[in-house]
Amino acid sequence: MFKQARLKLTGWYLLIIMVISFSFSALIYQISSMEIIHFAESQRIRIERRINSSYPNLPPPPMLVDTDLIIESQQRLLTNLTVINFFILLISGTLSYFLAGRTLRPIQKMTEDQKQFISDASHELRTPITALKAMLEVSLRDPKLSLDESKKVLTDAIYSTNQLKTLSDSLLELNQFNNKSALNLNPFSIKNLMSESVKKIKPKADKKQIVIKYNPINGQINIDIQKIEELFLILLDNAIKYSSKSSQIKFIALKTRKNIIFKIIDHGIGISQKDLPHIFDRFYRADNARTKNGAQGYGLGLSIAKKIVESHGGKLEVDSKLNNGATFVIYLPRFS
Ligand code: ADP
Repeated sequence: MFKQARLKLTGWYLLIIMVISFSFSALIYQISSMEIIHFAESQRIRIERRINSSYPNLPPPPMLVDTDLIIESQQRLLTNLTVINFFILLISGTLSYFLAGRTLRPIQKMTEDQKQFISDASHELRTPITALKAMLEVSLRDPKLSLDESKKVLTDAIYSTNQLKTLSDSLLELNQFNNKSALNLNPFSIKNLMSESVKKIKPKADKKQIVIKYNPINGQINIDIQKIEELFLILLDNAIKYSSKSSQIKFIALKTRKNIIFKIIDHGIGISQKDLPHIFDRFYRADNARTKNGAQGYGLGLSIAKKIVESHGGKLEVDSKLNNGATFVIYLPRFS
């Protein structure tokens, strides 16, 4: 599909260049032909004048303008212009093909990304939907299903639909962060921002007797409060999910000349060197997160977190070793 589009675009580029080139060549031919005729005519008049002044009684010579020479010059000009146009056609054809490729590359990448996104999303959605459908069908076919069992099936069904809703919300959200203008930026107190996020995640931490120690700093930061709070919740939630019971999580803030830096440090299962380059990819979940820890998730949190940070003009980094905890570092520009 892109090969065809590239050839078509090359054709259009070439058509524009050749129309301009032919028009200029026609103009050059016209002007130069007129100049050749004008030159021959001027030369004839001058020679006639000279002969008249030197030999006044002599009759005018029969042929002082050589028309064959004029036609020959015009033909040479035409040949030269044709050769030049042929080379222009060759060079601009190659250049147009190259340029068409470059023009189409971002569109090609976007289309491929979109295709991949749709295929990943439908794959992720299909598994829980199939499981839900099977569970409901089996229960429906069971003639001895008691009221309590039916209630249990319905409760499981509601749990699964909630999971599906979370997944579809996350998918929708991933598509939102494509430009900074979509953000609602306002100055916000760093202290309040951190304490609000900790307050919201505390019930989850309490369930695992995990303590979140946070060190805020004074000052304000220009952010979209909803998005940044969501970012902190994603990272704190992961820190809780991938830590063992009764451990500790640190949430600290620092100020540099250019950035406000937030660090979320846990002492959990950590991330292997093999997984580290991929954890920000959509739907990526490290094997030890699935098996060893058994934590629920779709592998979308960190890709959303990265998009939130990048849409604020910042960057998100991670440092971790397997079985040795993880440190997520968020750099947000102080002046945005
Ligand atoms: P999810 O947590 O839903 O699987 P995320 O996108 O939030 O998806 O995280 C992607 C993967 O990165 C996780 O599956 C896990 O393997 C790894 N990960 C993220 N945060 C941590 C952490 N604090 N400690 C260990 N592994 C982590």
